[in-house]
Formats: sequence, structure tokens, C-alpha cells
Amino acid sequence: MDLIFATNNAGKLAEAQAIIKNHKVVSLKEIGCYDDIPETHETISENAEEKAMYLWNKYHVNCFSDDTGLEVSALNNAPGVYSARYAGPKKDPNDNMALLLKNLEGAEDRSARFHTEVVLVIDGVPHHFEGYVNGAITLEKRGSEGFGYDPIFQPSGYGVTMAEMSADEKNSISHRAMALQKMAVFLANGCK
Ligand code: IMP
Repeated sequence: MDLIFATNNAGKLAEAQAIIKNHKVVSLKEIGCYDDIPETHETISENAEEKAMYLWNKYHVNCFSDDTGLEVSALNNAPGVYSARYAGPKKDPNDNMALLLKNLEGAEDRSARFHTEVVLVIDGVPHHFEGYVNGAITLEKRGSEGFGYDPIFQPSGYGVTMAEMSADEKNSISHRAMALQKMAVFLANGCK
């Protein structure tokens, strides 16, 4: 069975292909989908399901999507579902990180977690898989690998930020990898 991953991000596609070995995983461009897929909800879970169901309803293909947010304890779990556009519609990671560091100035509790939800749609039925990485927001940016908030997120038990890790090291502990691994087990068990 081929699975369409609701992304055109080459890094995410490679990460998913490395985990889902028993199925051919392809990106949106393989089915000629260049739509701006709507994300209209206020939770990561609902947005992930909306993206995957959009593909099912339009193309009738088995598919999966992911949605991620950074949840910061001292900010009542913000930016959460708004992580990409925290500092505005430009979706600029440097602006987002600058705003987060500013909003955490003086905070004693810098704990945070990445939360990913992957939704797999098989024959029109959605199945949800969650992944988390606990950690803390650093005082300043460190490292140049990865993307998004990686330079200011230090996973618990590590002395480096995610942007100071190699792609392999990050993928071995990442929130997305955890959710994708749960999905891989579900697929390997015949979707049970
Ligand atoms: P998306 O759901 O993957 O588009 O992620 C939403 C936002 O969360 C992105 O724009 C990034 O800013 C952030 N994000 C998602 N995954 C990661 C990650 O692995 N590291 C750092 N930031 C991430």
C-alpha cells in the first residue's frame, strides 16, 4: 500500500520514509497536490486530522499528516497550535524565537515540550498517534542544524539544543519520530 504524506518538506519525508519501511511513502507532489491545505482549528489534533481528511476527501488516497506545536509551561502551553505564526503571518523562525525568548524573560520555569500528532487515514477512517519530547527553552540560540525552534530547545537529559544535534541524533528522539513509530507499529499489525 502506498501512503501519501501531507507534506512537501523533504526533511520530513526522509524522516518518515526511514521509519515506515514496509510501505512506499510519497509526498504531495506525487499526486499533483499543490493546495494550501486548510488548518482552521485551535488544536494540533484537529488540524492534523483536517489535513489528512482533506486529502482523503479530494483524492481518495490512504494518507497521513502531521501537526506540531511547542508547548511552554510558563506561557500556558503557548505557542502551541500557533507555533508557526507565533510572531506573525510571515512564519519567520527567527522572529518566533525572539518573541518566545522575550516572553520568557525573567521566568524561572523554562520547561517546554514538543507535541506532534500524526493522523493516518485508511479507507476514510482517521487514526491518531502522538509523540512528545520534554525539555527546556534555553536563554539564547545555540546551533545551526534543524529548523524552527530547534536552536532554543534543549531536550531533557541532553547538554545540547536540538540545533546542535545531527539529523540522525535528533530524529532518534524527536516528537515526530515517536508518533511515526507508533503509526509504523499500527501498520505492521495490519492496522489494529
Ligand atoms: P508543523 O506542524 O510541522 O508545520 O510545525 C509547526 C511549527 O512548529 C513549525 O513552523 C516550527 O516552527 C515548529 N516545529 C515543528 N517541528 C519542529 C521541530 O522538529 N523542531 C523545531 N521546531 C519545530
